[in-house]
Amino acid sequence: MRAKILIVEDENDIGSFMVRTLNRKGFNAIRAETGKEALRLVELEKPEVILLDIMLPDIDGFEICKRVSRQHPEISIIMVTARGEDVDKIRGLELGADDYIIKPFNPMELIARIKAVIRRTNKPDNSNEVVIGPLRIDYNCRQVYKNGVVLDLTPREFCLLKVFVNNLNKALTRDEILNWVWGEDYIGDTKTVDVHVRRLREKIEDDPSHPKYIETVWGKGYLFRKGD
Ligand code: CA
Repeated sequence: MRAKILIVEDENDIGSFMVRTLNRKGFNAIRAETGKEALRLVELEKPEVILLDIMLPDIDGFEICKRVSRQHPEISIIMVTARGEDVDKIRGLELGADDYIIKPFNPMELIARIKAVIRRTNKPDNSNEVVIGPLRIDYNCRQVYKNGVVLDLTPREFCLLKVFVNNLNKALTRDEILNWVWGEDYIGDTKTVDVHVRRLREKIEDDPSHPKYIETVWGKGYLFRKGD
C-alpha cells in the first residue's frame, strides 16, 4: 500500500513538481491549492503525511497545522517554508508539526524527511480497509459491504461515509459535512446533508429510524458511533 501524501502548495510549478516526484518514488501524492481545499482533503482522503506550505491564498499553513494536529494527531505534518522568519515561528510555536523543510529543497531530502516521519509513526498499514461491526469499507475499490454483501452507494454517499469513518465518535456540524463532502463552492444548504444522511442510513443501518451508527446530535449535526 502506497503512503498517501497531501501536498498543500498554491504555486503550480512547485506543486506539480512535488506531485510528480513523489508519485515516481512510489508514494500516492495528492494536492490542494488552497487551505480550504486542504482541510477538505484531510477529511476525505485521510493522508498519512501533509507537506504544508505556509503562504496560501486563504488560510495560512500555521492555522491549518494547528487545526489538523488537533483533529487528527495521527497525521504527520511537514511544514514547507521559504523564509527564515517562518522557521523561527515553526520552532517557537507549539503547532504540532513533525518537521520542516526550507524551499528550495533537494527532492531527495524531501523524500528522506517523509520516510522518516512515516517510520516514526510506525503504524500498521491497514488504511485501505476499515471494518466497523458488520460494515467493511474497502477504500481501494470504493465499495462498502454489510455482512459480506456489497451495498449500492452513490459516490456522494461513499464520500459522506468516509468523512464519518474518518471522524469516528466526533460530532460533526452540517456545515462541516457540507464543506468536506460537497466543497466550499457548493451552492446549497445543509438540508442536502440531512437528505444524504437519511439515504445512507437506509443503506447501512438495520433500522434506519433507530440508527445505531449515524446518530443525530441535537443542535449540532451528526456523529458516527463506533460501538465495541
Ligand atoms: Ca505559497
